[in-house]
Amino acid sequence: MFSSILPKETNLVSNLNAQSNFLVTLHQSVSCVFNNTRMKNSLILLIVLFLSTNLFAQKLERIEPMFWFSGMKNPKLQLLVHGENIAASSISLSYPGVKLVKINKVENPNYLFVDLEVSASAKPGKFPINFSAKGEKLFSYTYELKNRDKSANRIQGVTQKDFIYLLMPDRFSNGDKSNDVVQGLAETALNRDSMYYRHGGDLQGVINHLDYLKDLGITTVWMTPEIENDMEKASYHGYAATDHYKIDPRYGTNELFKKYVETAHAKGMKVIKDIVHNHIGTGHWFFKDLPMKNWVHQWPKYTQTSYRDQTVMDTHASEADRKRMLDGWFVPSMPDLNQNNPYVQNYLTQNHIWWIEYAGIDGLRLDTYPYNDPEYMADWALKLKAEFPNLSVFGETFVSGVANQAYFTGGNTVNRGFDTHLPGITDMAVKEGIYEALNGKNGWTDGINRLYDVVAHDFLYKDPTLNCIALDNHDMSRFYSVVNEDFDKYKMGMALLLTMRGIPQMYYGTEILMKNFSNPDGLVRSDFPGGWEGDKKDKFISNGRTNKENEAFNYVKTLANYRKNSMALQSGKLMQFVPEDDIYVYFRYNNTAKGTVMVISNNTEKEKTLATERFAERISGISTAKNIITNQSVSIKEIKVPAKTTLVLELN
Ligand code: CA
Repeated sequence: MFSSILPKETNLVSNLNAQSNFLVTLHQSVSCVFNNTRMKNSLILLIVLFLSTNLFAQKLERIEPMFWFSGMKNPKLQLLVHGENIAASSISLSYPGVKLVKINKVENPNYLFVDLEVSASAKPGKFPINFSAKGEKLFSYTYELKNRDKSANRIQGVTQKDFIYLLMPDRFSNGDKSNDVVQGLAETALNRDSMYYRHGGDLQGVINHLDYLKDLGITTVWMTPEIENDMEKASYHGYAATDHYKIDPRYGTNELFKKYVETAHAKGMKVIKDIVHNHIGTGHWFFKDLPMKNWVHQWPKYTQTSYRDQTVMDTHASEADRKRMLDGWFVPSMPDLNQNNPYVQNYLTQNHIWWIEYAGIDGLRLDTYPYNDPEYMADWALKLKAEFPNLSVFGETFVSGVANQAYFTGGNTVNRGFDTHLPGITDMAVKEGIYEALNGKNGWTDGINRLYDVVAHDFLYKDPTLNCIALDNHDMSRFYSVVNEDFDKYKMGMALLLTMRGIPQMYYGTEILMKNFSNPDGLVRSDFPGGWEGDKKDKFISNGRTNKENEAFNYVKTLANYRKNSMALQSGKLMQFVPEDDIYVYFRYNNTAKGTVMVISNNTEKEKTLATERFAERISGISTAKNIITNQSVSIKEIKVPAKTTLVLELN
């Protein structure tokens, strides 16, 4: 039953109950063994004394963040200290520039929240944090302020210049068999035949294939969350965190994660980290011993979110609906964190800052964005921007309609003065527009006109170029299946993806035509062929791919590598024209006509001839262009557009 995992009281209370029950049982057992009353009583007294001492003993389990950095913009730092009855101890420290401001006790005596102020003058170095009780020293923890790494290739930001590859580390490549099954974790077996079990993929597997990705034209890797998900089953996706400060040992170590980011940077690539504000896994260490009852949202009985983003923006919404959307749990195994709790706020924000500074991450993808507390998220965004001005951030908005997703972006024109400070979102509307352009029947607002209409709604955003656009991901049917394995439509879609405004993202395997529908979602999360030793096929190499797969791979590669040198695609504006004769045309351009990219999409079954006079604003004075895919020169006075084709032309 689900209700059994909802903590009704803190674990300390349960511990006390357990200990007194134990004493009663002990009394009975001892009475049976010893007939001599005096002896019996002495023994019980001894055991009771031992237990009482034990009850009030302090033990340090962890301090988080386990280290911090000197020179952060925000001098405030709140340490979470966890240990048995740690609240009974007092704390002292002495280090130039570091001030112990306040020690906060909370409901559960196994926690202390220690407010420090780390001034700008505090130098990198180590100092002891001393714990004592009744004037006697108990233990100390060596805290470290590390030097902030200001190297130029760290925390670069991810922009329209980039092309993101989304992968699931468990399903991409197994680079280290020794970590496939890790002793002590709840999931005890590997099973590549089951979509629900771990398959053994890891960070080393990704590191091993960075060159493959670079060759494909990928500039940025985003993987589903890498931190520990020590759940009994089906947590390979990474969205049920059980330790915020630890890379899942099946993927590697914190040090290996840092090395992965550094290796990517050394190759001129970037890294996005996927983070979850909204929820954790029930196996999380702090969920098993909650600092306070309202650390997570508590309901009288299990209450699931309605998944209705409308309740957040709807001026007619009830408070009850809004509360259920924001405070309801995502699923029974993922408790909903209470982002109104200032300790939770500090914990999450510091954790994200810690990872970025520690590893040098370039961007963040925020999971389940609409489910979070809006005020907290806005505050969070400002705090991160203050520390890392170049960091890129986009929120997952799996919602329907441009206005609904624009609502969550910072500085938009629709949400009446509340600024989320969120730069970008996952642009589902563009994806829907492209799907409709490829699969729909052309009509006034349907087919290719839908995509035109979606892009026309960009006035709702402060800056739509910060949106992440994609044709598929780990929660959606694979793109090649969506277009019914129609290779022409596949190429049309990839050309639109790689020339549209925004930051394009591709899901692993789409370059080799991996397919399936996401019901259940495990079907779109299968292993990349060749990522495991002994795989029958290795699709990381051209010899292992079929001709058609190579054609797809090379198509993506050509466009992706073209992007790397096209200023128009990297930073240009977009001008679109009303579709006529079922042909949709847009341009990506900078101030000069040279290098302007003209995109022409014909989604019909017929070859069309496009007269170009009405595009004079963008093509004036130009007579020829280069077809980016074929490298052929074409006249742009009149352009032949084959059936089911997106042409990508660079004006000469
Ligand atoms: Ca492995």
